[in-house]
Amino acid sequence: MPIKKSDSDSVHRFLRDEVLSTLCSKVPATMVATIFIATWVVVLFWQIVEREWLVGWYVLLSFLALERMYHAIHGCRYRGLSIEASYQRFRIEVMITALLWAFAAFFFFPEDQTEYQLLLALIVAGISSGGAITLVIDKNIAQAYSYLPLSALALRFLMCGDTSHLILFGMALVFMVILGLSIQLLGNILSKGILQRSELTAVRNRLDMILDQTPTGIFYYDLSFKIIDCNQALSDLMGVSKERLIGLDLTLLHNIEAFQILKRVVEEKNRLRYEGPYTSMLSGKEIWISAVVAPLFSNSGKIIGAIAVLEDKTKEHEVYEKYEFLALHDELTGLPNRKLLADRYRLQTAQAARNNQYSALLFLDLDKFKHVNDTYGHTVGDELLKEATRRLQMVLRQSDTVCRLGGDEFIIFLPMISSDLQESVMQVQRICEKIHRAISEPCEINGLKLYNSTSIGAVMIAGMDMGLDEVLRCADISMYHAKKLGRGITSFYEVEMDEKVKQAIKLEHRLRQAIERNELEVYYQPIVDIVGQRMKGAEALLRWKQSDGTMVSPAEFIPIAEESRLIHPIGDWLIDQVCQSIAKWQREECFVIDYVSINLSPRQVKHTNFFENTMSKIKNSGIENRAIKFEITESVLMDESEQTKAVLERFIAKGIGFLIDDFGTGYSSLSYLKRYHFESLKIDRSFIRDILTDEEDVTLVRAILDIAKEFGYRVIAEGVEKDLQREKLASMDPSIFYQGYLFSRPMDHDNFSAMLKKS
Ligand code: C2E
Ligand code: MG
Ligand code: MG
Repeated sequence: MPIKKSDSDSVHRFLRDEVLSTLCSKVPATMVATIFIATWVVVLFWQIVEREWLVGWYVLLSFLALERMYHAIHGCRYRGLSIEASYQRFRIEVMITALLWAFAAFFFFPEDQTEYQLLLALIVAGISSGGAITLVIDKNIAQAYSYLPLSALALRFLMCGDTSHLILFGMALVFMVILGLSIQLLGNILSKGILQRSELTAVRNRLDMILDQTPTGIFYYDLSFKIIDCNQALSDLMGVSKERLIGLDLTLLHNIEAFQILKRVVEEKNRLRYEGPYTSMLSGKEIWISAVVAPLFSNSGKIIGAIAVLEDKTKEHEVYEKYEFLALHDELTGLPNRKLLADRYRLQTAQAARNNQYSALLFLDLDKFKHVNDTYGHTVGDELLKEATRRLQMVLRQSDTVCRLGGDEFIIFLPMISSDLQESVMQVQRICEKIHRAISEPCEINGLKLYNSTSIGAVMIAGMDMGLDEVLRCADISMYHAKKLGRGITSFYEVEMDEKVKQAIKLEHRLRQAIERNELEVYYQPIVDIVGQRMKGAEALLRWKQSDGTMVSPAEFIPIAEESRLIHPIGDWLIDQVCQSIAKWQREECFVIDYVSINLSPRQVKHTNFFENTMSKIKNSGIENRAIKFEITESVLMDESEQTKAVLERFIAKGIGFLIDDFGTGYSSLSYLKRYHFESLKIDRSFIRDILTDEEDVTLVRAILDIAKEFGYRVIAEGVEKDLQREKLASMDPSIFYQGYLFSRPMDHDNFSAMLKKS
């Protein structure tokens, strides 16, 4: 790896450091040797050299040696100094030592004692060569250290002037040259080695730095599956220090699947990937990782281990899991959605078929949930759904699937109940009872106490004989049946229900066509006073005359129109027709009656803007408000909602009267008779039919007449067909009115116009 420019600084620094520490490493030993030799010098030259000089020199040299030794032992760094400055100081101290030895060579030189001269030469040569060897790493200082004492000695030999000393001078010079060359040679070799080492260290540092700052976790391992090295990111990822990771035995990994990948890479010498959960065996940290593992080869192409690069995918995985959960679950309740239900249904019915077992599917709809939502707001509605979910989960087994279809509709799939149909049905009944009980427990939401019930449609499934869509359809039909039967109950699916539903769907389709083809017509049936039989009013009745001339009874198509909400356009159309007809009759001055009554279904009353729309129709036609009256059944009054009450009161305030239709057939309390200012009670036809023969009916009619009198209501008897019936009623109360075939059947607009004109 070539050394980069950016590394040169660090190489330089490293070199200084390295040279200084190499030099320092030798200081303690050389200083001991220096003091030892200096001591010898003192002892040997005690008699020859002046003692003050000798002692002074010795003290200085020893002090310097001890000071250098002290610093060398303490890392060669002088307190408060940089490496550079420390190095300079080291050099200066070496130079002072060399000068002291040069001083000794020059001034302790005994001019006339040859043996001491040789002794001194030997000591100086030793000091110079010793210095050259120990300081060789820094050639300049090594040369200076060797040359200074030697030069002083050579100078003294030269100063003696005689031949033998001149020879010694020459020898000293030769020695200096040899020493200089050796220092040069050795110094070059050494500094090259150090430079290489420092360059390698710089490269290694750079690689370590890159490795550590790489955002992905990296580790490599050998053939015995021990981690050789790893980076900081891996340590962060695993929550384990690098020291603990390095040397880790990967064969002990708890995650077998991950280890198999590491093993296969080495065996197959191929790059492999691993993506999945990982639990660190050292820290216990749980993460989701994505790893690429590649084999590592030596220069000779032999596999020596592998390297793994890891990425933390925990966050991505969490997001993915969340989306996956949402794709299969309902966000509000966390329950499985239809897709997940379909999966489970397919698997579990297949298993049920293998075991010859019955399963069941329940279709639940919270009764009057819309009312809760409309009255208390969606937050309360949401909380109610969550509470219902919690209760359903409590009464069901783990193996059952509760799913939310949307709105307040829940599906419960009960797989593999029993291989006996009777037994299975009984079990489903028991479960349904539990559900009814759980749901009907009052629940408190935001300080409100809510009373709920649910209607359940149940379908028994033999093995896997029905697809989910079909089962859901049947369960839906039976749930509607349960609702019709009075809510809060369970209805098991029967084929006949299906027939009825199919017919209803057909009828609805035909009714839509009928509206488009103008096949609907308004008939009128007069309402007359019971004694004089003079027309006082009329009831508007819908007729559906099909293209082939056959009539469809309103009793048959009105409920379908209500269910499919077609009642709204039909009802509006009828009101419009009646208003227009009255206006026409008034213009023709034949409107001899007081009013025309129009039947309203409960749904119509609840429809938004019904009041405003109706009033504008009446106004646009130019007729008086009191020319219109509405007939409502007790079922409208049973609806306690504020909205219904308000609509009735607003109509009454506008002078539009109300007649209670089919009176006596409902079960509601009669308190409404007091609350509203209704005008008349219409005694249902069923009480009039047998009034001549059935005493009970007579008693009932009499009771109704009493009630009416008590509350100030007028009475209209419906379905009077015979004169005897009329006479009987007239004898009971001559002030009442009647409507029936006796006076007239309902007739179309033209016939009724003719009748009005005649009277
Ligand atoms: P309803 O309001 O009680 O109307 C009276 C029904 O009794 C009418 O039946 C009428 O033809 C019938 N009727 C009258 N006098 C006699 C009689 O002497 N003998 C017998 N056997 N029947 C008599 P229709 O026209 O078949 O209407 C049936 C029901 O359909 C009505 O009962 C009413 O509840 C509903 N309906 C009719 N038109 C409308 C409408 O425009 N809107 C709504 N919401 N319901 C309507
Ligand atoms: Mg009526
Ligand atoms: Mg009626």
